[in-house]
Amino acid sequence: MSLLTDIQLPAVHLASVSKSYPSAAGPVPVLHEVSVGFPTHALTAVMGPSGSGKTTLLHCAAGLDRPDSGKVFLGDTDLAACSERQLTEVRRSRIGFVFQQFNLLPMLTAYENVALPLRLQGGRVKRARVMEALRQVGLDDKAGRRPAQLSGGQQQRVAIARTLVAEPEIVFADEPTGSLDRQSGRQIMALLRDTVDRAGRTVAMVTHDPAAAACADRVVFLSDGKVVGRLDHPTAEAVAHQLSLWER
Ligand code: ADP
Ligand code: MG
Repeated sequence: MSLLTDIQLPAVHLASVSKSYPSAAGPVPVLHEVSVGFPTHALTAVMGPSGSGKTTLLHCAAGLDRPDSGKVFLGDTDLAACSERQLTEVRRSRIGFVFQQFNLLPMLTAYENVALPLRLQGGRVKRARVMEALRQVGLDDKAGRRPAQLSGGQQQRVAIARTLVAEPEIVFADEPTGSLDRQSGRQIMALLRDTVDRAGRTVAMVTHDPAAAACADRVVFLSDGKVVGRLDHPTAEAVAHQLSLWER
Protein backbone atom coordinates (compact mmCIF):
# COMPACT_ATOMS: atom_id res chain seq x y z
CA MET A 1 0.00 0.00 0.00
CA SER A 2 1.38 3.41 -0.96
CA LEU A 3 2.16 5.83 1.83
CA LEU A 4 0.01 8.90 1.37
CA THR A 5 2.30 10.86 3.69
CA ASP A 6 5.18 10.48 1.21
CA ILE A 7 3.30 12.40 -1.42
CA GLN A 8 4.54 15.85 -2.34
CA LEU A 9 2.88 16.99 -5.55
CA PRO A 10 -0.40 15.44 -6.68
CA ALA A 11 -0.31 13.95 -10.19
CA VAL A 12 -3.46 15.93 -10.93
CA HIS A 13 -4.95 18.72 -8.89
CA LEU A 14 -8.29 20.48 -9.34
CA ALA A 15 -8.58 23.91 -7.74
CA SER A 16 -12.08 25.30 -7.25
CA VAL A 17 -13.45 23.72 -10.42
CA SER A 18 -17.03 24.58 -11.39
CA LYS A 19 -18.93 23.21 -14.34
CA SER A 20 -22.52 23.52 -15.53
CA TYR A 21 -24.41 22.20 -18.53
CA PRO A 22 -26.79 24.33 -20.56
CA SER A 23 -30.49 23.50 -20.46
CA ALA A 24 -33.65 25.18 -21.71
CA ALA A 25 -34.19 26.57 -18.19
CA GLY A 26 -30.62 27.96 -18.03
CA PRO A 27 -27.32 26.45 -16.94
CA VAL A 28 -27.53 23.46 -14.60
CA PRO A 29 -24.62 23.40 -12.16
CA VAL A 30 -22.88 20.01 -11.90
CA LEU A 31 -19.60 20.76 -10.10
CA HIS A 32 -19.39 23.50 -7.45
CA GLU A 33 -15.88 24.76 -6.72
CA VAL A 34 -14.43 21.29 -6.36
CA SER A 35 -10.88 21.17 -5.04
CA VAL A 36 -9.27 17.75 -4.97
CA GLY A 37 -5.86 16.22 -5.62
CA PHE A 38 -5.02 12.78 -6.98
CA PRO A 39 -1.81 11.83 -5.16
CA THR A 40 1.11 10.48 -7.16
CA HIS A 41 1.77 6.72 -6.90
CA ALA A 42 -1.59 6.16 -5.23
CA LEU A 43 -4.99 4.74 -6.15
CA THR A 44 -7.79 7.20 -5.45
CA ALA A 45 -11.45 6.19 -5.69
CA VAL A 46 -14.25 8.68 -6.32
CA MET A 47 -17.68 7.69 -5.04
CA GLY A 48 -21.07 9.31 -4.88
CA PRO A 49 -24.68 8.91 -5.96
CA SER A 50 -25.62 8.70 -9.62
CA GLY A 51 -25.71 12.21 -11.07
CA SER A 52 -23.39 13.66 -8.39
CA GLY A 53 -20.84 14.71 -11.02
CA LYS A 54 -18.24 11.91 -10.85
CA THR A 55 -17.88 11.47 -14.61
CA THR A 56 -17.82 15.24 -15.16
CA LEU A 57 -15.10 15.52 -12.50
CA LEU A 58 -13.00 12.81 -14.16
CA HIS A 59 -13.48 14.34 -17.62
CA CYS A 60 -12.36 17.76 -16.37
CA ALA A 61 -9.37 16.19 -14.58
CA ALA A 62 -8.39 14.28 -17.73
CA GLY A 63 -8.68 17.24 -20.09
CA LEU A 64 -11.62 15.61 -21.92
CA ASP A 65 -13.79 18.52 -20.85
CA ARG A 66 -13.03 22.10 -19.80
CA PRO A 67 -14.31 23.58 -16.51
CA ASP A 68 -16.28 26.85 -16.58
CA SER A 69 -14.02 28.18 -13.86
CA GLY A 70 -11.22 26.97 -11.61
CA LYS A 71 -8.02 25.26 -12.64
CA VAL A 72 -6.77 21.77 -13.40
CA PHE A 73 -3.07 21.00 -13.06
CA LEU A 74 -1.41 17.91 -14.48
CA GLY A 75 1.86 18.03 -12.55
CA ASP A 76 2.66 21.69 -13.06
CA THR A 77 0.89 21.98 -16.42
CA ASP A 78 -2.16 24.26 -16.26
CA LEU A 79 -4.65 22.55 -18.61
CA ALA A 80 -6.79 25.72 -18.91
CA ALA A 81 -3.79 27.48 -20.45
CA CYS A 82 -3.41 24.76 -23.12
CA SER A 83 -4.72 25.24 -26.64
CA GLU A 84 -6.92 22.46 -28.07
CA ARG A 85 -3.90 21.11 -29.93
CA GLN A 86 -1.73 21.12 -26.78
CA LEU A 87 -4.54 19.49 -24.80
CA THR A 88 -4.83 16.70 -27.40
CA GLU A 89 -1.09 16.11 -27.11
CA VAL A 90 -1.27 16.09 -23.30
CA ARG A 91 -4.12 13.54 -23.38
CA ARG A 92 -2.22 11.38 -25.82
CA SER A 93 1.13 11.34 -24.08
CA ARG A 94 0.45 11.92 -20.38
CA ILE A 95 -3.05 10.64 -19.57
CA GLY A 96 -4.76 7.27 -19.83
CA PHE A 97 -8.53 6.74 -19.70
CA VAL A 98 -10.39 3.49 -19.06
CA PHE A 99 -14.15 3.42 -19.73
CA GLN A 100 -16.93 1.26 -18.29
CA GLN A 101 -17.69 -0.11 -21.77
CA PHE A 102 -13.98 -0.76 -22.62
CA ASN A 103 -14.19 1.26 -25.89
CA LEU A 104 -11.96 -1.11 -27.85
CA LEU A 105 -12.06 -0.96 -31.64
CA PRO A 106 -13.96 -4.12 -32.67
CA MET A 107 -12.14 -4.66 -35.99
CA LEU A 108 -8.70 -4.59 -34.39
CA THR A 109 -6.99 -7.41 -32.49
CA ALA A 110 -5.95 -7.01 -28.86
CA TYR A 111 -2.41 -6.33 -30.11
CA GLU A 112 -3.58 -3.68 -32.59
CA ASN A 113 -5.80 -2.00 -29.96
CA VAL A 114 -2.88 -1.78 -27.54
CA ALA A 115 -0.54 -0.53 -30.28
CA LEU A 116 -2.96 2.27 -31.26
CA PRO A 117 -1.78 4.96 -28.78
CA LEU A 118 1.80 4.41 -29.96
CA ARG A 119 0.68 4.70 -33.58
CA LEU A 120 -1.12 7.95 -32.79
CA GLN A 121 2.06 9.29 -31.18
CA GLY A 122 3.79 8.72 -34.52
CA GLY A 123 7.03 6.87 -34.95
CA ARG A 124 7.62 3.15 -35.13
CA VAL A 125 5.66 0.78 -32.89
CA LYS A 126 7.98 -1.57 -31.03
CA ARG A 127 6.40 -5.00 -30.89
CA ALA A 128 8.18 -5.83 -27.61
CA ARG A 129 6.61 -2.80 -25.93
CA VAL A 130 3.08 -3.76 -26.98
CA MET A 131 3.62 -7.38 -25.93
CA GLU A 132 5.01 -6.24 -22.57
CA ALA A 133 1.82 -4.21 -21.93
CA LEU A 134 -0.27 -7.28 -22.81
CA ARG A 135 1.92 -9.41 -20.56
CA GLN A 136 1.37 -6.98 -17.67
CA VAL A 137 -2.37 -7.65 -17.89
CA GLY A 138 -1.85 -11.39 -18.41
CA LEU A 139 -3.05 -11.48 -22.02
CA ASP A 140 0.11 -11.88 -24.11
CA ASP A 141 -1.29 -15.24 -25.26
CA LYS A 142 -4.47 -13.52 -26.59
CA ALA A 143 -2.73 -10.86 -28.70
CA GLY A 144 -4.36 -12.03 -31.95
CA ARG A 145 -7.94 -12.06 -30.68
CA ARG A 146 -10.55 -9.45 -31.50
CA PRO A 147 -12.65 -7.94 -28.66
CA ALA A 148 -15.67 -10.15 -29.51
CA GLN A 149 -13.46 -13.21 -28.92
CA LEU A 150 -12.63 -12.06 -25.39
CA SER A 151 -14.68 -11.98 -22.16
CA GLY A 152 -15.71 -8.62 -20.67
CA GLY A 153 -12.98 -8.86 -18.05
CA GLN A 154 -10.38 -9.66 -20.72
CA GLN A 155 -11.55 -6.74 -22.86
CA GLN A 156 -11.15 -4.40 -19.90
CA ARG A 157 -7.64 -5.79 -19.34
CA VAL A 158 -6.81 -5.00 -22.99
CA ALA A 159 -8.17 -1.48 -22.41
CA ILE A 160 -5.89 -1.13 -19.38
CA ALA A 161 -2.91 -2.41 -21.40
CA ARG A 162 -3.78 0.19 -24.05
CA THR A 163 -3.43 2.96 -21.44
CA LEU A 164 -0.26 1.51 -19.85
CA VAL A 165 1.61 1.15 -23.15
CA ALA A 166 1.88 4.93 -23.47
CA GLU A 167 3.29 5.18 -19.92
CA PRO A 168 0.87 7.89 -18.76
CA GLU A 169 1.42 9.97 -15.64
CA ILE A 170 -2.09 9.13 -14.49
CA VAL A 171 -4.76 6.62 -15.50
CA PHE A 172 -8.40 7.62 -15.04
CA ALA A 173 -10.99 4.85 -14.92
CA ASP A 174 -14.75 5.56 -14.92
CA GLU A 175 -16.52 2.60 -13.31
CA PRO A 176 -14.04 0.12 -14.81
CA THR A 177 -15.75 -2.81 -13.09
CA GLY A 178 -19.31 -1.53 -13.64
CA SER A 179 -20.06 -3.90 -16.55
CA LEU A 180 -18.29 -6.94 -15.12
CA ASP A 181 -19.21 -9.88 -12.93
CA ARG A 182 -17.81 -9.92 -9.40
CA GLN A 183 -14.85 -12.22 -10.18
CA SER A 184 -13.73 -10.21 -13.25
CA GLY A 185 -14.22 -7.02 -11.26
CA ARG A 186 -11.88 -8.30 -8.57
CA GLN A 187 -9.25 -9.14 -11.22
CA ILE A 188 -9.47 -5.62 -12.65
CA MET A 189 -9.09 -4.10 -9.18
CA ALA A 190 -6.04 -6.30 -8.48
CA LEU A 191 -4.61 -5.13 -11.80
CA LEU A 192 -5.20 -1.44 -11.03
CA ARG A 193 -3.66 -1.99 -7.60
CA ASP A 194 -0.62 -3.60 -9.27
CA THR A 195 -0.40 -0.69 -11.69
CA VAL A 196 0.21 1.53 -8.69
CA ASP A 197 2.29 -0.80 -6.50
CA ARG A 198 4.49 -2.52 -9.09
CA ALA A 199 4.41 -0.24 -12.13
CA GLY A 200 4.55 2.88 -9.92
CA ARG A 201 1.66 4.62 -11.68
CA THR A 202 -1.14 6.86 -10.44
CA VAL A 203 -4.77 5.82 -10.80
CA ALA A 204 -8.00 7.73 -10.19
CA MET A 205 -11.15 5.64 -10.46
CA VAL A 206 -14.90 6.08 -10.09
CA THR A 207 -16.73 3.17 -8.49
CA HIS A 208 -20.03 2.36 -6.80
CA ASP A 209 -18.66 -0.76 -5.16
CA PRO A 210 -17.36 -0.47 -1.57
CA ALA A 211 -15.23 -3.61 -2.10
CA ALA A 212 -13.54 -1.99 -5.10
CA ALA A 213 -13.11 1.30 -3.23
CA ALA A 214 -11.45 -0.63 -0.39
CA CYS A 215 -8.58 -1.42 -2.82
CA ALA A 216 -7.83 2.32 -2.99
CA ASP A 217 -5.45 4.34 -0.83
CA ARG A 218 -7.98 7.12 -0.57
CA VAL A 219 -11.69 7.54 -1.26
CA VAL A 220 -13.18 10.94 -2.12
CA PHE A 221 -16.95 11.28 -1.71
CA LEU A 222 -18.92 13.51 -4.04
CA SER A 223 -22.51 14.64 -3.50
CA ASP A 224 -24.40 17.21 -5.60
CA GLY A 225 -21.18 18.31 -7.26
CA LYS A 226 -19.31 18.94 -4.03
CA VAL A 227 -16.62 16.99 -2.20
CA VAL A 228 -18.33 15.97 1.04
CA GLY A 229 -15.83 13.58 2.56
CA ARG A 230 -12.57 11.72 2.33
CA LEU A 231 -11.35 8.41 3.70
CA ASP A 232 -7.72 7.28 3.74
CA HIS A 233 -6.76 3.57 3.85
CA PRO A 234 -10.44 2.59 3.49
CA THR A 235 -12.04 -0.71 4.38
CA ALA A 236 -15.22 -1.88 2.63
CA GLU A 237 -17.10 -1.49 5.93
CA ALA A 238 -15.89 2.09 6.47
CA VAL A 239 -16.80 2.99 2.87
CA ALA A 240 -20.28 1.46 3.18
CA HIS A 241 -20.77 3.35 6.45
CA GLN A 242 -19.79 6.69 4.83
CA LEU A 243 -22.10 6.03 1.87
CA SER A 244 -25.00 5.31 4.21
CA LEU A 245 -24.43 8.72 5.85
CA TRP A 246 -24.69 10.63 2.54
CA GLU A 247 -27.64 8.61 1.36
CA ARG A 248 -29.81 9.52 4.31
P1 ADP B 1 -22.22 10.75 -12.32
O1 ADP B 1 -21.07 10.25 -13.13
O2 ADP B 1 -21.89 10.99 -10.87
O3 ADP B 1 -23.44 9.90 -12.45
P2 ADP B 1 -22.29 12.92 -14.25
O4 ADP B 1 -21.04 13.71 -14.09
O5 ADP B 1 -22.37 11.98 -15.38
O6 ADP B 1 -22.64 12.21 -12.86
O7 ADP B 1 -23.52 13.91 -14.39
C1 ADP B 1 -23.81 14.90 -13.43
C2 ADP B 1 -25.02 15.70 -13.88
O8 ADP B 1 -24.72 16.39 -15.08
C3 ADP B 1 -26.22 14.82 -14.18
O9 ADP B 1 -27.35 15.50 -13.70
C4 ADP B 1 -26.25 14.76 -15.69
O10 ADP B 1 -27.55 14.61 -16.17
C5 ADP B 1 -25.63 16.06 -16.10
N1 ADP B 1 -24.87 15.96 -17.36
C6 ADP B 1 -23.78 15.19 -17.56
N2 ADP B 1 -23.29 15.33 -18.80
C7 ADP B 1 -24.11 16.22 -19.43
C8 ADP B 1 -24.14 16.79 -20.73
N3 ADP B 1 -23.22 16.49 -21.65
N4 ADP B 1 -25.14 17.67 -21.00
C9 ADP B 1 -26.06 17.99 -20.08
N5 ADP B 1 -26.08 17.49 -18.83
C10 ADP B 1 -25.12 16.61 -18.51
MG1 MG C 1 -20.77 8.60 -14.28
